[in-house]
Amino acid sequence: MPGKKQQALSRAIDEAGHDARLSGASVVDHATLQSECEPGARAFWQAVPSRVLDLAVDPAEFIVEISSRLCMQECAVDQWCPLCDAVLDSRGHHSRMCCAGGDRTRRRNGLRNRIFRGAARAGLHPELERPGLLLPSRPGDINQNEQARRPADVYLPCFTGGLPAALDFAVTAPQRQETLYPGCSYCPRGRL
Ligand SMILES: [Zn+2]
Repeated sequence: MPGKKQQALSRAIDEAGHDARLSGASVVDHATLQSECEPGARAFWQAVPSRVLDLAVDPAEFIVEISSRLCMQECAVDQWCPLCDAVLDSRGHHSRMCCAGGDRTRRRNGLRNRIFRGAARAGLHPELERPGLLLPSRPGDINQNEQARRPADVYLPCFTGGLPAALDFAVTAPQRQETLYPGCSYCPRGRL
């Protein structure tokens, strides 16, 4: 195409390929691919492996993570989750979001602790689980009982602009039924 730079042509080809992949994807794969396009999602791909900085992933775990992000199958067929009896899908999505075995809680705590340590190193004087700061899970509960407020995962007494900040972390996934089918009464909360 005269007048077009190589970079522009490559970008047009990439975008056409991406659109074709999305248009033929299942609802779950569509959500996975769209999630990879969100800001910050590609940090995993760009991180330089370093054991010193705790950025190294074992090869087997790395392959599984890539397979999931590229919508590849991790096993041949769907099975039943031995912990909660939901479908253990062959893409491995349920194994990442099942809350029955406690892994999701451990991931959230690991994320919270990492942010806490980083804030402490930065001299921000963070506090773990400071009580009574965040709105309850159901905001209406605050009208009946001020004690219903939840603790902040990490409290920073002096953050942007000198103001305090209460950080709240959650481990979630774009493949959750509530995200894929909002308002669907057949989708139990917390299960894939
Ligand atoms: Zn499960």
